[in-house]
Parts: sequence; structure tokens; C-alpha cells
Amino acid sequence: MIRFPESMSAGAALLAEIERRSGQQVSACYQCGRCTSTCVAAFAFDYPPHTLMRLLQVGMVREVLASRAAQLCLDCMTCSTRCPMEIDVAGVIETAKLVADEAGLKDTERDLRLLRRAFLSNVRRHGRLHEASLLIWFNFRTHNFMNDIKLVPLVLRKKNFHIFPPRIKNRRQMLRIFQEINRGGKG
Ligand code: SF4
Ligand code: SF4
Repeated sequence: MIRFPESMSAGAALLAEIERRSGQQVSACYQCGRCTSTCVAAFAFDYPPHTLMRLLQVGMVREVLASRAAQLCLDCMTCSTRCPMEIDVAGVIETAKLVADEAGLKDTERDLRLLRRAFLSNVRRHGRLHEASLLIWFNFRTHNFMNDIKLVPLVLRKKNFHIFPPRIKNRRQMLRIFQEINRGGKG
């Protein structure tokens, strides 16, 4: 398990790990701010994307790992496609999230992280999102057993609501995609 850095040198070691895993050179960022100006979610972040990059550059990795921004990032890649230095900003943030998980991030954004993990494993398991099982799993894990109970009659009336998980064609291909992503994350 990776520990949060207690010093600047430990921060530098974590930054090196993030750069190694993401394959990106964070030091190449020159703070033009284009990533932030195109980010659709920046309004909800505690630090905008270009500030996340700056924090990483100066070794304040702990702030990035524990940031709300790292948890709320949608992985939409808009910032990555706009960066004049061709830095995959989304990839850097995604890698920071993975490192944050491994570091046992303190609980401020626990539910968000749980939901993100549950979403991905639900898609991996079923080939596409199965809302019912995601909701049940999430409420169970967060001990909100009766959460959303009022919505059940409404949801059941929806034509496109499926009680049982969907079956997609070529599920093996989906599993291969996840395997490739995991391999990429480990560098
Ligand atoms: S767009 Fe690229 S160079 Fe500009 S601030 Fe963002 S990461 Fe840095
Ligand atoms: S990937 Fe994240 S940081 Fe980049 S534009 Fe999308 S939401 Fe913003």
C-alpha cells in the first residue's frame, strides 16, 4: 500500500509513481489554463485541473490525492485533447485516483469513491450498466438500506427498467477492454 507523503521528497516519489503509471510528464505543464477553461466539471472542483497539475509539480501530491476534484473528474478527456503540451491531463488525474485508493484515502469522499468503483465493476460484470443491482449494492455498502425506496414504484413503471441484468453479445471483448485498462494502469 502506498502511504501519503509526509515530506516533499516523499511527494516527489509519489509524483514519479504517477508519471510512471500515466506515462505523462507533469513537469511539461506551463500553466496556460486551457485544460481548466474547457473542463465541464471544474465548477464543482475544489482545485481546477491546471492547479492540480501545479500542485503535483511542486510535490503537494497529498492535496491532489485527497482533492474533491480528483474524485469528481468525469474522465471525459476534454482537457487532454486541448492541452498544447499534449499532456493527458485526464490520465494523470485518473492515475492519481488509483494511487489515492491504494493510499487508503481518508473518508471525506468515501461514498463517491465507492460509487465510482461500483459503477465500473457493474459494467465489467454485466457488459453494460445494470441500475438495479448498482443501487442495491451501493445502498447496502453505505448502510442506507431504505434509501431511494420511494422511487421504486416510479422506476418499476419505466419501460426500460430491467430487474434482471442485461446480457450483451461478445462479453469477452468487454472483459478484454478492462484487462487492457488494468494493464495500462500498472504500466
Ligand atoms: S492545458 Fe496542459 S499545459 Fe495548459 S495548464 Fe493544462 S496541463 Fe498545463
Ligand atoms: S477529464 Fe476531468 S478534468 Fe478533464 S475536462 Fe473532463 S472532467 Fe475536467
